[in-house]
Amino acid sequence: MNIENSLSKLEKLGKKKNISFFESLRIKKILNFFLQTDNPEFLEQLRLTAVKTRNKTYQEKVFVRGLIEFSNLCCNFCKYCGLNIYNNKVTRYILDKGEILSQVEVLYTKGIKTVVLQSGEMENQTEKISDIVKSIKEKYPDIAVTLSIGEKKFQDLKILKEAGTDRYLLRIETTNRKLYSNLHRQKRILNTRIKTLKSLKKLRYQTGSGIMTGLPGQKTGDITKDLVFFKKNNFEMIGIGPFIPHPDTELKYAPRGIPELTLKVIALTRIILPYSLIPATTALGSLEKDYRVDALKWGANVLMPNFTPDILKARYEIYPGKESDSSLKNLELLAKKAGMILDFSRGDAPGF
Ligand code: SAH
Repeated sequence: MNIENSLSKLEKLGKKKNISFFESLRIKKILNFFLQTDNPEFLEQLRLTAVKTRNKTYQEKVFVRGLIEFSNLCCNFCKYCGLNIYNNKVTRYILDKGEILSQVEVLYTKGIKTVVLQSGEMENQTEKISDIVKSIKEKYPDIAVTLSIGEKKFQDLKILKEAGTDRYLLRIETTNRKLYSNLHRQKRILNTRIKTLKSLKKLRYQTGSGIMTGLPGQKTGDITKDLVFFKKNNFEMIGIGPFIPHPDTELKYAPRGIPELTLKVIALTRIILPYSLIPATTALGSLEKDYRVDALKWGANVLMPNFTPDILKARYEIYPGKESDSSLKNLELLAKKAGMILDFSRGDAPGF
């Protein structure tokens, strides 16, 4: 495989809006190659191409998003997630509007212009959440609101959009149909996930998706297909993190994802989707060393400090050892280590 040639093919794809069937076949070979190689020279070339691409589109800026995990209540059963409905060791909580608004005040005071409201998946909360979004927007008109609250019907997503929500995160987790079904419960199928992502796009949300790398049973070829899926859908945001086993789930004995693989996937995503906003994910910051710096060095450009009230942080345990710092000084240092600077603008995707 000619590395320079292959990388320039990926860069060319980055300039296109779409990917044809034949192109995807050709590209898959290249993606597969990079996902499998451990040749340090090849990988360094991949990394440098990703950084060059990112610096061309977004310069050396790291966009800051303030995360509030406002509830760990969940009606879903994702086998990998510590918050799944059957984990009765979790003490459940939900913040009310006043509590959420006061956390927004904290991050807004620090100059942050995006709030991400994340929770487990809850039924019948659309009105309540819409009301919260409206209040945030009234009080802080220059703030962008992102929701990460799981699968919802088109009508609910419409109401939430009309309330003022700007963005929505919903990872596909894996595009392998069988693997997806194995990791979730009956009736939770890949098609519903895809349909929901389509609804988000149709409603003009800035739409985020993404995957976990190193899921038990996931193959290199699956990740290759995930990457093509990202390109086909042109997601504005793409979150990629390693799978980390949670001791109170049935995947507790599965090995955790290897961060180096996550970094490769970040770099490949950056090159084929030059304008995507890619977080240095919390999961990468929750391992024996802080791999978020590496993520920035491999093409990521978003950091998400955690503004969940301190006394509740430990209860939002999707996976163990979750990083939950909100200090901007530390973030600044992370960015600096990657030769980048924090950016406090809303950081919208182009076209929004
Ligand atoms: N309820 C929301 C938010 C889920 S948490 C939703 O369904 O979209 C956000 C992400 O954390 C998930 O999409 C998943 O990719 C990731 N995650 C969950 N469990 C994990 C684990 N054990 N290791 C690593 N990442 C995990």
